[in-house]
Amino acid sequence: MASYSVNNKAQTNGDHEVHETSCRYLPSDKKYLGDYTSCSSAVTEAKKTYSQSNGCATCSTACHTS
Ligand SMILES: [Zn+2]
Repeated sequence: MASYSVNNKAQTNGDHEVHETSCRYLPSDKKYLGDYTSCSSAVTEAKKTYSQSNGCATCSTACHTS
């Protein structure tokens, strides 16, 4: 179980990255998503706010698509 947040600011490619709250790349401008057993659930939740959401390449590798 981990806590996840999504970046309120999009990357240059339009993706809103989903991070574990312990990630060193966690942005200050973020929206808390909740606690999830997998990053895929967190990304699904993030997509309710930002349809173009993607897992962070560092903390959510399994959910990162490029
Ligand atoms: Zn991250």
